[in-house]
Amino acid sequence: MPCRICHDLTVESPSDVLRLDNILFTGLQSSVLLGCQACFLIESGINSFKHVANIVDLDISSSVERHQEERLGERLLLRVTTRDINGDDTNLEFYSTDVRITHRWPLIPIASHISTDSSSPGCLHQARKWLDHCIQNHGLQLCRSGTRSKLPTRVIKVGDASTRPYLHESAPGETGCYATLSYCWGAARTFITTISSYSQRKTGFSIEELPKTCHDAVLVARALSIPNLWIDSLCILQDSTPDWEFEAANMCDIYENALVTFAAVDSPSSDSGLF
Ligand SMILES: [Zn+2]
Ligand SMILES: [Zn+2]
Repeated sequence: MPCRICHDLTVESPSDVLRLDNILFTGLQSSVLLGCQACFLIESGINSFKHVANIVDLDISSSVERHQEERLGERLLLRVTTRDINGDDTNLEFYSTDVRITHRWPLIPIASHISTDSSSPGCLHQARKWLDHCIQNHGLQLCRSGTRSKLPTRVIKVGDASTRPYLHESAPGETGCYATLSYCWGAARTFITTISSYSQRKTGFSIEELPKTCHDAVLVARALSIPNLWIDSLCILQDSTPDWEFEAANMCDIYENALVTFAAVDSPSSDSGLF
């Protein structure tokens, strides 16, 4: 018996499409508990998309899409639209990197058009598109994405491929657009700013001197055309108690006023990188 919630994500013939509307999220969750692997796949996909919360119901549909590249012909696409308690929709597309998944559920194709390298120009270009969409459509209430915020006491001017980054001391009331980095330091505290290295940092440094995660954050900021970056280890004088106390008290505002935060969630130390 096929699952009555998800129909096992199968269609009779390749030209058919799947259309399942207004599935209660609690119904999907019950089906997962009863052992439906396709429902589990859908639920995992929704849950791994972190900011989806308070979901009431969802639609599952499939379609046949033309590849942008003509020679690749057509591909199947599985779309899940979730609705939350506020009535807001989130559209998710499902792809796999595992041929066994695609073999079992042909509606979930291999994402051959999506690079597996998140540092690739294509992925960074996509990130810039998402960020532009956020700036233009989400407004202050939804995302608080400030393109002109009060700058923290110090920021790193990331520069571009032909210039060196340097530490900039903001003028009182200076505004701008900046990104923040949220990461785990790990054991190594190699390249930081101290009272004695402060003036040196302001004259600039090589991007290669930075720990890998900070190095990658500079590259991402450049790719997203964000001129300023705030990293605690470089923007707070690490051996100054008064500076630490002052900046720690402001940290909430620093993160909140950033255009975007790069979160190195899968990176156990500052040497493991952002990608
Ligand atoms: Zn199911
Ligand atoms: Zn947004």
